[in-house]
Amino acid sequence: MSWLGIPLVYEQKVIGLLALDNSALNAYTERHVRLASSLAEYIAIAFEHSRRHQLVTHQAMTDKLTGLANRYGLETTGIEIFQDSIERDHFLSVLMIDIDHFKQINDTYGHSYGDAVLQLIAATIRSQVRNKDYAVRYGGEEFVVLLPELSTREALIVAERLRIKISQMKVDKDRKFPTVSIGIYAAVPGSMDILHEFIRKADLALYTAKEAGRNRSRIWSTNPEFFGN
Ligand code: GH3
Ligand code: MG
Ligand code: MG
Repeated sequence: MSWLGIPLVYEQKVIGLLALDNSALNAYTERHVRLASSLAEYIAIAFEHSRRHQLVTHQAMTDKLTGLANRYGLETTGIEIFQDSIERDHFLSVLMIDIDHFKQINDTYGHSYGDAVLQLIAATIRSQVRNKDYAVRYGGEEFVVLLPELSTREALIVAERLRIKISQMKVDKDRKFPTVSIGIYAAVPGSMDILHEFIRKADLALYTAKEAGRNRSRIWSTNPEFFGN
């Protein structure tokens, strides 16, 4: 029967509405309006500050060039994913992806072409993984992808699908598009494990993929052959 609406204003912009309902007729007086108005001022400030905080947190965890997560994202969301795998006793797979001879690509076609290649590869990674997977620009031309619940075999399928897709990409017919090498490590993490150890093993596997000739995926293994002995 009664309704009172107060706009939420921040820096002269309406950012929301405080609405009050009452089942009695003519329930709201001038005093209510004044009270609700001063309350609305505080709500507007709290609301806008929380929205900005969220935005800044998101920006701080996002790589500007590719839109993927950055190292800080890996240190926060990545560690949460890792903890979750420990708690639920699930597999976690890590892919370490590195662009092959990327320096040559930059040297031959220029840095801005290199940047475009990075963006396209990042977009391809994002399109090839699930929403719950976490893709990170780990270094200049290195990407880490966390794949919760995927075993070694399943992670290899994802890696190969991604690698083959990238190997078939082109920006135009005149310029070469690079391939990628991928290192894989998968295990069910225990409470004593740390994410960095998973990443280090995926990185070792990547190293063997590079050594073996690039444009391939390799799984980390305890087999001595893996270490090139
Ligand atoms: P490898 O197959 O052994 O990985 O060879 P590589 O040339 O890819 O490896 P290296 O580490 O020698 O070179 C990496 C290159 O990545 C060098 C650097 O100029 C380039 N790079 C890193 N970050 C960026 C970036 O943001 N934009 C561009 N265009 N290039 C970048
Ligand atoms: Mg590299
Ligand atoms: Mg490289």
